[in-house]
Amino acid sequence: MSDPLDERDMAARALGLVAEAAGPYLDGLAERPVHDRAMDVLLDELDGPLPERGDGSPAAVERLVRVGTGAATHSSGPRFFHFVVGGSTPAAMAGDWTASLLDQAAGLWLTSPLAARAETVVLRWLKELFGLPASFGGVLTPSATLAHVTGLACARQWWAGRHGVDAASQGLAGLPAMPVLSSGLVHVSTRKALQILGCGRDTLRVFARDDAGRVDLAAMDAALAEAGGRAVVVANLGEVNAGDSDPIGELADLAERHGAWLHVDGAFGLFAALSPRTADLARGVERADSVTADGHKWLNVPYESGFSFVRDPRVLSEAFGAWGAAYLPEEDGDRVNYNMLGPESSRRARALPIWATLRAYGRDGYRAMVERHLDVAAHLGALVEAAPDLELLAPVRLCVVCFRYRPAGVPEERLDELNARLGEALLGDGRVYAGTSRYRGMTVFRPAPLNWRTTKADVERLVEVLRELAATLDL
Ligand SMILES: *Cc1c(COP(=O)(O)O)cnc(C)c1O
Repeated sequence: MSDPLDERDMAARALGLVAEAAGPYLDGLAERPVHDRAMDVLLDELDGPLPERGDGSPAAVERLVRVGTGAATHSSGPRFFHFVVGGSTPAAMAGDWTASLLDQAAGLWLTSPLAARAETVVLRWLKELFGLPASFGGVLTPSATLAHVTGLACARQWWAGRHGVDAASQGLAGLPAMPVLSSGLVHVSTRKALQILGCGRDTLRVFARDDAGRVDLAAMDAALAEAGGRAVVVANLGEVNAGDSDPIGELADLAERHGAWLHVDGAFGLFAALSPRTADLARGVERADSVTADGHKWLNVPYESGFSFVRDPRVLSEAFGAWGAAYLPEEDGDRVNYNMLGPESSRRARALPIWATLRAYGRDGYRAMVERHLDVAAHLGALVEAAPDLELLAPVRLCVVCFRYRPAGVPEERLDELNARLGEALLGDGRVYAGTSRYRGMTVFRPAPLNWRTTKADVERLVEVLRELAATLDL
């Protein structure tokens, strides 16, 4: 087989191979370990020299599906608690397949009115879901990191404008460093966005009043006064080690008083807005100038999915539009060219899986899921508190539970090493997946249950397996 043209009629058959594998794979996800023991052998089957003569798509796809379903990290199952990783709802996954089937060029209205309209609709639905004003602009991005790039590029555009410079056309040469202020809850991806944007990741200043990173409002107030308000405040809604959040309303007050730009990182925490039980954490995001969130975390949409919302839609098009290519059609009402509002040019129809899942489950379905996860996290917190050899390290506020193993008689200075070994044992075991992180100078576990499949039984299993493995460690 050499030329795809010879396979004109083969696409449906190749897709059929994937569809046939989907049922057994998804049905087994809840019970299988996160890693297959034979993974390395399977991965070797991916390797080899570039084929001179192709296998043809049935053989190639058969191999890919067999290796893939065996050797993938089965992280979309219910017991993958490491980092902040979501799954993919049935509707979202089918929506994603539809996006592949239709293969839309979703940058321009002209190339896909379907993708453009779907993006406009899902951005409106998401704003409603999160309680953001309908007047906000927005764009879908591949991730929260790229949503930071989008929101902070708008901040940079605004800030340079206050210095009399159009950053999109002139760049930053001759300007001072843009002051960016946050608490100790700030995520590394914010620094990465600043690094990409030429603002420098180490220009971000942290104002923390304790070792958990909680914001020092008075010190930030003074720094904002010194900057004459020409500064960017980054507020964090949902931190990855303990699930803590900045007081968004108070940071909004501060930013407003000084005339600063307020950027909110709500990668997963923005979903606090969905439940009356946690909505107070998100109160104030509607006052932000730019807001970041992820689809591939708590929305349970497949990778890659993020969103950026910006209060003044004009700043989005100033920062990303008008790139001077004459063949590009003009912006016109509903005929939105989303590649003029974000960092990408060509892009996939990322709105379709979001549309499918919001249409399938609605606001009620998502509220129910978020509340189930709040219950699951609280349940895990209670199990940890009840266990004599586990120590809960922060109150459970959202969907992250921060704790460590602390058996009686082991001195404090040995606990980090013990928890690191337990974390490795847990990752190696694979029945339940949660590794360690650092929090307030300690090595800790911080599982985050936010997969749509996860129930209380799954976190009970986590505690069981953890204690079973801990019993095998030399203290
Ligand atoms: C995951 C995460 C990010 C980065 O998101 P990506 O989608 O991985 O780029 C940023 N901030 C917080 C709080 C996160 O949890």
